[in-house]
Amino acid sequence: MGRTGKSKRPTGDYVVVVGAGVVGLSCALNLARAGARVELIDDQDVDHRTSFGAAGHIAIELVDPLATPAYLRSAPRQLFAFGGALDFRLGDIGVWAPWAIDFIKACTPARAAAGKAALGELLSDAHRAWRRLADDIGRPELIRLEGHVSVWESPATARAGQAEWLDSGIDHIRTEPLGGALAERLAKTIKAPIAGGVRFEETGQFADIAAMLAALREAFVAAGGQVREARVTRLAIVDGQAQAILESGEALAPDHLVVAAGVGSNPLMATIGRRAPVIAERGYHVEGPDLGWGDLPPVTFEDRSMIAVQLGGRMRCTSFVEFGAFGSPPDPRKWERLERHVRELGLPMGEPRTRWMGARPTLPDYLPAIGVDAGAPNLIYAFGHQHLGLTLAATTAEIVTDLASSGEPRLDLRPFDLRRFDGGGNHRGKHP
Ligand SMILES: Cc1cc2nc3c(=O)[nH]c(=O)nc-3n(C[C@H](O)[C@H](O)[C@H](O)COP(=O)(O)OP(=O)(O)OC[C@H]3O[C@@H](n4cnc5c(N)ncnc54)[C@H](O)[C@@H]3O)c2cc1C
Repeated sequence: MGRTGKSKRPTGDYVVVVGAGVVGLSCALNLARAGARVELIDDQDVDHRTSFGAAGHIAIELVDPLATPAYLRSAPRQLFAFGGALDFRLGDIGVWAPWAIDFIKACTPARAAAGKAALGELLSDAHRAWRRLADDIGRPELIRLEGHVSVWESPATARAGQAEWLDSGIDHIRTEPLGGALAERLAKTIKAPIAGGVRFEETGQFADIAAMLAALREAFVAAGGQVREARVTRLAIVDGQAQAILESGEALAPDHLVVAAGVGSNPLMATIGRRAPVIAERGYHVEGPDLGWGDLPPVTFEDRSMIAVQLGGRMRCTSFVEFGAFGSPPDPRKWERLERHVRELGLPMGEPRTRWMGARPTLPDYLPAIGVDAGAPNLIYAFGHQHLGLTLAATTAEIVTDLASSGEPRLDLRPFDLRRFDGGGNHRGKHP
């Protein structure tokens, strides 16, 4: 099947989607618009979802999964204690140590190269998938595909960064040195001197994440979808078909069950013996009224591992890769560091400010899990989108709709098969 965005219609099928973050919501909407009878289950307020607090950058350039030999070598330099963005909550060592072992195993040159090829394929159409989705729901203004900028503050890092990106070899990316009117506007908007930058074309951003999530939900309901506030406590397999069991004890037995529960996917999949080692890769943001960023595109301040964006009239800065348990308390030092960056850069972010922390759902090889369960053919999984959940949600929704209709996905899903983490439990025939 070509990557046209068209799937055969799963008309009349009863579909349950678990998780109303950007991934589950996009899947539910696409399925409902394709004719399925869809119930979308979530147990949380919108603004607690990871999708709500993200930077909204449509990052089709990030084809390198973070599980690479180069990243592994650079990790010590990137630690929070030395001014970097990487941190591990000591009290949660029991959670991240086993994950870190899987991560190190994934950091071989061969796996990193295969991961890059697979992620590149998935990302190459992600901006267009969002354009299709936003146009379909009549809200094209919520997606801006006008590129973004990366900047470096030291001449040495600028030289290295420009060399990397201006000759990246990524087919679907076009870049140029930052210059002209855009560079002048940025220089007038911030007070820190910039040593060099790169402008990316065709990457994009959400104009307003909260408005996009609300628009997707509205379109879903308009297409006949039902939103239900409930907690799925476990999955079950009955006569070879997956069911979702709610806290109330009610068992939902759909034609297709889609698990898109972000960091909640791991415990759910474990209830039927599947190994889905998603960790909470926690990130932070500070946000305040925009006092002058306007329609400048997203800017990544690479030496600070921080991105600055304008979303719905407010400026938001996000950063940090903090491994820990999902429910552990936030670390206020991270917000203080972000506030310091805002001050030092002279970003036009007003008061009062809000602080937020959320958890990226990340698998050890930094590839998402998208596919059909090997033992229960009605169970579709779509989670583990790491730093790219907003970027990849519309693409994932198209693939999930393919799987629920023709069963033939528009691209090779073998790299995203959950059985790659198999200790035996994810193989057909070994399921309880
Ligand atoms: C600081 C930060 C910045 C980011 N910036 C970007 C960016 O610029 N671009 C980008 O592409 N990505 C970005 N990301 C990553 C992105 O936010 C995530 O990949 C994405 O939000 C994951 O979406 P999701 O739908 O899988 O998960 P979520 O948004 O977490 O949604 C999962 C939902 O499932 C529900 N759920 C879980 N378990 C159950 C259960 N048992 N029963 C019922 N409901 C359940 C949860 O309540 C939740 O609402 C960023 C992340 C962070 C933290």
